[in-house]
Amino acid sequence: MAKDTGRRRGASRRSTRKTLTLLMVTAVTALFSWWNIARDSLICYAVSYEGESVGQVATRWELMEAVEEADALAGELLGEDHPVARGVAVTTSISRRDDGPEALTANLLYNVEGIEKRWAILVDGEPVGTLGSEEELRSLIYSLISERIGPGAVSAEFEEDVRVEYTFVPADLTSDPEEIARLLSPGSTESPVSLTLVTREREEGEETIPHVTTYEYDDELFEDEERVEREGSDGERKCLYTVLRRNGEEISRELTSWEVTEEPVSEVIVKGTREGSRTDSQGYFIWPTNGIISSYFGYRSTSVGNSNHKGLDIANSVGTNVYAADGGVVTFAGWSGAYGNIVKLTHDDGTVTYYGHLSSILTSEGERVAQGQLIALMGRTGNVSGPHLHFEVRPSGGSPVDPLGYLELSELRGK
Ligand SMILES: [Zn+2]
Repeated sequence: MAKDTGRRRGASRRSTRKTLTLLMVTAVTALFSWWNIARDSLICYAVSYEGESVGQVATRWELMEAVEEADALAGELLGEDHPVARGVAVTTSISRRDDGPEALTANLLYNVEGIEKRWAILVDGEPVGTLGSEEELRSLIYSLISERIGPGAVSAEFEEDVRVEYTFVPADLTSDPEEIARLLSPGSTESPVSLTLVTREREEGEETIPHVTTYEYDDELFEDEERVEREGSDGERKCLYTVLRRNGEEISRELTSWEVTEEPVSEVIVKGTREGSRTDSQGYFIWPTNGIISSYFGYRSTSVGNSNHKGLDIANSVGTNVYAADGGVVTFAGWSGAYGNIVKLTHDDGTVTYYGHLSSILTSEGERVAQGQLIALMGRTGNVSGPHLHFEVRPSGGSPVDPLGYLELSELRGK
């Protein structure tokens, strides 16, 4: 980098001097011009470096420029102060030959020990290694890139200024291709001149398209109820990305195009708007099961049970569904003596209903259940002669009353 700046500075110096020279030439009168031309073309500066003649230039300016340039460049390559200026000797002579400053600079450098002109790779102006030809160097750079890009590569470039030049380099600069590759190796943390490779690659992939959920409303359903009207499902798309990587590490991924392979299906959920809860008591009872009435409420004389029957017996086979006669909370679920397995529901007005002799219980204490909800299966547990449901109604949780009145009333109301 520093050397590049030095070169640019040299170039700007040269152009300033050329402009000045031009102005001077046009300014002088015809009378003096013949004299100037004669003098400039007759005197020149012959330069030698450590006793070796290296050329000659016509003006002091050219001389200084050439020596300064060679001195700066050699100093940088060798890491020394003024390696050229120290060895330069100048004599004036009468001659028409002018090699020009560039040639003098080059000749000076050719003669400095420890510097050679070769094909070299320069990173940000810094020589890194040399090989026999430009082609060898370019293919080394090419392999550094090709080893690090995939088949979908669109572009690959170094962030650094990487050049191949025929230029002066330190004579001991490495010419081992493996060493050069190791030094330049993109992303290497061990080398101060390691490169940064930025690649742009095209990649394919698949993406899920999430489905959306839409809501509909139904005033038949309670506020705390909802049902899935249509099950939703995610879609899928094939994607094409442009992926930017810096030394193999992803920096950005841009979706360039896609094709939907499966459309998503939106989910439709119906929400209730009816005030209250599904498990609220409705204030009337529905039949808790199907079957035939095998024993009514009240006094009776049978071989089993109390002579005063506290409920209504509905007989059917073991496993017949038993439903909650109305919404309420399960206040007991378990075994209770002659009742066998029993569920007790307390309804919102305090009325308690019993469901006895169950073969299995499908709810648990504390649960709120809705009218018509399956809570148990009919059985023959406890004190029974055959499978049936013993259904009991106790207003305010007190003494039992005839359930039939409630059930028939519901039937009359068309419920
Ligand atoms: Zn009974």
